[in-house]
Amino acid sequence: MNRMSSCIFCKIIKGDIPSFKLFESDKTFAFLDINPLSKGHALVIPKHHGEKLADIPDDSLTELLPVAKKIAIALGATNYNILQNNGRLAHQEVDHVHVHIIPKPNEAEGLGVKWPQQKIDMGELKALAEEIKSKM
Ligand code: 5GP
Ligand code: ZN
Repeated sequence: MNRMSSCIFCKIIKGDIPSFKLFESDKTFAFLDINPLSKGHALVIPKHHGEKLADIPDDSLTELLPVAKKIAIALGATNYNILQNNGRLAHQEVDHVHVHIIPKPNEAEGLGVKWPQQKIDMGELKALAEEIKSKM
């Protein structure tokens, strides 16, 4: 069995695994997360199977944020996080690209974020920007 046929989100798109669908178009699918961090926690996915963001063609990515926006508005969320995890260390558990919409109704529910800021030398920051730009 290849990765795509064993992928839980590909099965959800096909309807082989049930989900509470919120949106569907030719290239995008959205549904409620089964273990929500808060009420309304939803996922938007490209129908194109790919593990990480870089594996998805640009034309399959165009609706992800607009659909996340629609859902955030429909939820009436005023505080929320849009999150897309890549790789185990970065908390990705399902290897099919997905964008989370996670309402943050209070301190306890929703996404908890650690934000370990580092001090950096401006010269280093400038050199880093030049290096990244040269590779884009
Ligand atoms: P990740 O940690 O990979 O960014 O997030 C994966 C998300 O998918 C988790 O929030 C998890 O609850 C959700 N999830 C995993 N399996 C299923 C499923 O079968 N159905 C639904 N609706 N959500 C799922
Ligand atoms: Zn998949």
